[in-house]
Amino acid sequence: MTERTFSIIKPDATQRNLTGKINAVIEDAGLRIVAQKRIRMSRAQAEKFYEVHAARPFYGELVDSMTSGPVVVQVLEGEGAVAKYREVMGATNPEQAADGTIRKLYARNVGENSVHGSDSQDNAKLEIAQFFTEADIVG
Ligand code: GDP
Repeated sequence: MTERTFSIIKPDATQRNLTGKINAVIEDAGLRIVAQKRIRMSRAQAEKFYEVHAARPFYGELVDSMTSGPVVVQVLEGEGAVAKYREVMGATNPEQAADGTIRKLYARNVGENSVHGSDSQDNAKLEIAQFFTEADIVG
C-alpha cells in the first residue's frame, strides 16, 4: 500500500553537506520525496518532537543536537514507506547498521546518526502534521 513517512536529515548530516547523498539513497530505494524544507528547529519544537524520550538520560543531548544546526524535514511516499525507510536508515547505532544503509554510510555515532524516520503510520501522520500542511505535499 502506498503510504507516507516523515524523515529528518539531522544537523550532523547537513553540517557535512550530506543532504544530496542521503536523498540519493532515499530515491534509489524507490521512495519519493513529496515535500522537503530546510529549517532550524526551535528548542520547543525539538522537545515536543522527542517528548516520548523525555525521561531518557540522553534527552538533553538529543534536543541540543537537533537544535545545533539546520535540519531538512521531509515527507517520503511509497509502497510500505514507513518500514522501507526504517530499513534504508539502518539501526539506531551505526555500529549495528547493515551495509548500504544511511546510518552505516554516514552516521557518526548513536546520538549523531544523521536521520530520523517515523516508526509507525500513526506517528508518521502526527510528525508530518508538526511540520507540513497538506498543501505542502505534492505527490
Ligand atoms: P530511532 O527511531 O532509530 O531514531 O531511535 P530511538 O527512537 O530509539 O531514539 C531517538 C534518537 O535518540 C536516536 O535517533 C538518537 O539520535 C538518539 N538516541 C537514542 N539512543 C541514544 C543513546 O543511547 N545515546 C544518545 N546520545 N542518543 C541516543
